[in-house]
Amino acid sequence: MRVLLQFPEGLKQHALRYAKELEDRGNDVVISASPAYGACDLAIDEARKIGADKLVHFGHNEFLHAPPDFPVEYVPYEMTAELSILSECLKELEGYRRIGLVTTVQHMHQLDGVRAFYERNGKDVRIGRPYGFAKRSGQILGCDVGSASSIDKDVECFVYFGGGLFHPLGAVYGTTKPFLSIDPFIGRWLWLDDYRKKKERMTRAKITRGIVARSFGILVSTKIGQYNMNLAQILKSTLEKNGKTAAILVSNTFDFESLENMREFDAFVNTACPRIGSDDVDRLSKPLLSANELIEIIGIIKAGL
Ligand code: SF4
Repeated sequence: MRVLLQFPEGLKQHALRYAKELEDRGNDVVISASPAYGACDLAIDEARKIGADKLVHFGHNEFLHAPPDFPVEYVPYEMTAELSILSECLKELEGYRRIGLVTTVQHMHQLDGVRAFYERNGKDVRIGRPYGFAKRSGQILGCDVGSASSIDKDVECFVYFGGGLFHPLGAVYGTTKPFLSIDPFIGRWLWLDDYRKKKERMTRAKITRGIVARSFGILVSTKIGQYNMNLAQILKSTLEKNGKTAAILVSNTFDFESLENMREFDAFVNTACPRIGSDDVDRLSKPLLSANELIEIIGIIKAGL
């Protein structure tokens, strides 16, 4: 059987080992070297092109249903981190009793242990439910922070347990309470509330620039979990009805240098991964708006404000 292996960026370092294991079991193995950031991004086109019988996607649970005519196997990847850091930074949570707890799929098996630690230390721990792309209570994805947002009104602060800032920042943007990120891999804990304020400032600046923009490029990604041509067409016609020029721009993974080369556009609108519009604004000299931000701009223009 020919299989295509696909790894997110953090797991590409293990690709050769997995490939050899599968080869030793008699498979013909090819590794996708394309960037992969989530299970929204299944390399089905590559798999078909090389005549693979199956795509094996590492590191994520199912995000949406893959095309029914192509088999996809998901291989979750658990990471077990030391919990000792929880005692080291317990003082940070003095004054907070009701805490919301979130983590990533890699640490879901440790969520009960983290919860038990806080409960032993007098905390009332709440765990919310995701909106649907993430599958388990307490789990967050970059684009599904329902496990945090759904309990925002019930808690006094949030704790994220896991590596990196990508996931907790999404949850920070989707909540209003103080947010502590605990990274057991580098032994660091950090309150992330300044990022929320920074994003609010950047959003206001983008909207101000978007109001005076005359031409808009609307980004559509061909990744199967991000593709949203319908939304792009609605936004294009809305812009045109309001006297603006608009075109739909398609790519699998957007390259910011290529977007910079498209100098006729005064602003871009993102319909792909929602994190492109919030995390990558500094990488473009033109405003990169979300669909909601564009709707707000249209409303302002119509109201003549
Ligand atoms: S849409 Fe973006 S945030 Fe959501 S899974 Fe894909 S890459 Fe991650």
